[in-house]
Amino acid sequence: MNRLGIVLDDRYFNHQIEGPTPENPGRLRSLYPAVKDTFGSRLQVVNPIEVPDKYIQQVHSNFYINQIREHALNSNPFSYDKDTYLMDESLATARLGCGGCLELADNIMADEFKRGFALIRPPGHHAEPGRGMGFCILNHAAITAKYLQQTYKINRILIVDFDVHHGNGTQEAFYETDNVMFFSIHQANLFPFSGTIDEVGAEKGLGYNINMPVFSYFGDEEYTYLLGKTLHAIAEQFMPQFIIVSAGYDGHADDSISSTTLSTKWFNTAATLFKQVARDVCDDRLLFILEGGYNPVSLQDSVMETIDSLITPDVGRVGILHSERAVSILREHPLNDYWVL
Ligand SMILES: [Zn+2]
Repeated sequence: MNRLGIVLDDRYFNHQIEGPTPENPGRLRSLYPAVKDTFGSRLQVVNPIEVPDKYIQQVHSNFYINQIREHALNSNPFSYDKDTYLMDESLATARLGCGGCLELADNIMADEFKRGFALIRPPGHHAEPGRGMGFCILNHAAITAKYLQQTYKINRILIVDFDVHHGNGTQEAFYETDNVMFFSIHQANLFPFSGTIDEVGAEKGLGYNINMPVFSYFGDEEYTYLLGKTLHAIAEQFMPQFIIVSAGYDGHADDSISSTTLSTKWFNTAATLFKQVARDVCDDRLLFILEGGYNPVSLQDSVMETIDSLITPDVGRVGILHSERAVSILREHPLNDYWVL
């Protein structure tokens, strides 16, 4: 019961091109053996299959999926988008990514284990219903949430996204619903340049979309304060039945894609914080999905810290230090109109 469900599969290396790009199989190549060597028998490895069309269609349009198929045939891998390269194995690899998430979700719902981590690629949180972007083809977190709702009649799901970039795709998928709450903490004025505090959801979803843009050079102290002071309180009011974490590691100080300064150890703290929330509101159900993280060294070290926390049954408490810079963000934040902190 204390094992951690995990997806790690060499087929995630199949989406690749010649030439340099930050999102490449090298992100996972030494991470996989390190995870197996360090945590070995405490992991329960599950084998993914490609997600069936009917689940993709819950989030993405057929028009978009056909576009992906057509562009994959083009000799220029960047014919669709300047970041999101496409080759013959791209869609299959993304489908396998989703499949890994669903497999973990099924096992969590069956009480096979309580927590899971899908170490997949390419990432998914930028993929909108009708458009792929930012290295993302299929939105794994969104497809998993829809799948859980449909298969297990779960009414309320919380998706927390701590990738340094705003999860625009996930936001769009659930912007008008109160069934899925989306909470994104990310660096402001960075790709994809969405995710302001005013994007609070619409229609029934008003108040169920929470963006926490932070400034350059924010790090452990501010992130822990902002998540620690909000998530638990909001989750106790929303009462999600399942928590999905879009886990991006590109806010690490050593990742040159951002100027956020999170430490390796912070990713352990963050996982502990999510464990605490999951224990108190949804019987520990917690699924991590790998998003960004483009320095393979800091990515590996930080993922190991996350797993170290997730695999520990005890739920420690996270101490929160006062941070004036973070306090000022919360004071002005429109989430106060919908939730009591
Ligand atoms: Zn990112």
